[in-house]
Amino acid sequence: MTQSGLAKETLQTLESLFHWFHRHPELALNEFETTKKIKAVLQEHDIDILPNPLDTGVFAKIGGKNAGPLIALRADIDALPINEESGLPYSSENPDRMHACGHDFHLTNLLATAFELKKIEGQLNGTVLLIFQPAEEVDHGADRVVQTGILKGVEAIFGLHVNDELPTGVIGVKEGNLNAAVDRFFVTFKGKGGHAAHPESANDVIVATGEFIVSAQSIVSRNVSPFEPSVVSITHIESGKTWNVLPNAALLEGTVRSYDNAVREKIKTRLREVTNGIAATNGIIGEFKWVDGAPAVVNDRHLTQFVEAVARKHNFEVVELEPSMGGEDFSSYQQIIPGTFFNVGVNSPYPVHNSKFKVDPKAFETSVPLFIDLVKTYFEGSAVDGETLLS
Ligand SMILES: [Zn+2]
Ligand SMILES: [Zn+2]
Repeated sequence: MTQSGLAKETLQTLESLFHWFHRHPELALNEFETTKKIKAVLQEHDIDILPNPLDTGVFAKIGGKNAGPLIALRADIDALPINEESGLPYSSENPDRMHACGHDFHLTNLLATAFELKKIEGQLNGTVLLIFQPAEEVDHGADRVVQTGILKGVEAIFGLHVNDELPTGVIGVKEGNLNAAVDRFFVTFKGKGGHAAHPESANDVIVATGEFIVSAQSIVSRNVSPFEPSVVSITHIESGKTWNVLPNAALLEGTVRSYDNAVREKIKTRLREVTNGIAATNGIIGEFKWVDGAPAVVNDRHLTQFVEAVARKHNFEVVELEPSMGGEDFSSYQQIIPGTFFNVGVNSPYPVHNSKFKVDPKAFETSVPLFIDLVKTYFEGSAVDGETLLS
C-alpha cells in the first residue's frame, strides 16, 4: 500500500490508463475509441455495463447486492480542438486534439474508483451508477444523458473537475453557486443598403449595431439587481466589406452568463426588446435568436458539506472555491437530482484549455480515495464529526 492507501498495482494501472486516454483525445460526440476503451477495461474488471442509447459514453453500475440507495458518479470524457504543446512524453497522438480540460483525469479517476469499489461490491449497502458522459465542452452531453432516463431513482450525484490553480491534491468545494448558466444569442439587423454618400436614401445597419452594443451593455447595470451576478458580452460582429457602401445587414453574436433563472429570463427578454426597439427606430428589420446552454451549477448544501467532511476525515486539505462565470454542464443533472461538483488541485503551470496545460497525476492519490470513500460513507449513512451527514 502507498501513502494514499491505494495499492501499488492500482496506481500503476491507473497511470497507464491515464497515459492511454491522454494520448487518444477525441472531440465531443466523437469519443468512439475512448468509449471502446472504457468498456473494455470495465469488462476486464467484470463491472456491469448498462445499455446506452447514445453513440458515445458509457453507463455502468456496481453494487445492488444489498438494499440501499442509488447514487451516481459522473466523469466527462471529451477533449478539445487544440494542438498539444505540453511536452509530456504521453502527449496527444491525434493532431489538433488535446485533453486540455483534464477530462482524461476525470474518467481515469472514475475507472480507478470503480475497480476498487468492485472489490468490495458484496459489502456495499447501495448501488453506484457510473456515468462516463460525452460532450461536456459542446453539444449538451449532460442533457443527452439525462434524456436517456438513466438517472431514474438516483438520489445524489457527485462530479469532479481538475483545478489548475490549486496545489496538487487540494480539494475545492463550494455550496450554492459555482458555475454560471451559459447562453448564446444572435442578432441580425437587415435594411436597404446604399451609397455611403447618400444615407438619406438607405438604412444604416452599422449605426443600429452601435446602438445595440451600448444598449445591451446597460441591461446588466440597469435592469438586473447589483446583487445578482450576470454578464452580457458581445463577441462577434460582421457587417460591410468596403468604405463607400452602406451594407444590407449586420450580425452580432454574444453570450450571457447568469445564476438566477429569473435574471436569465430577464436578460433574454431585454435583449429581444432592445433588438426590436432599435430596429423600429432605424426603420429596419431586427431578428433575435437565443440558444440555451447549460444552466448554472448550484451545489447542494448537504452533499457539499458531506464531501468536505469525508475529505477532512482523510486529512486532505480543503478550500472554498470562488464562483465562476464559466459554465459546466454538470448542472443538467442538478436540475433533476441534488448533486455537488467539486475540484481537485492538479497544479498546472498553464490553465485549462491551454495547449501547455498538464495535470500532476499525483492528484489521483487524493481524488481516488476520496471518491471511494464518498460512496462507502454515503452508504453507511455514517456520521463524521458526530453529525449525520445526510438528513
Ligand atoms: Zn473545458
Ligand atoms: Zn472541463
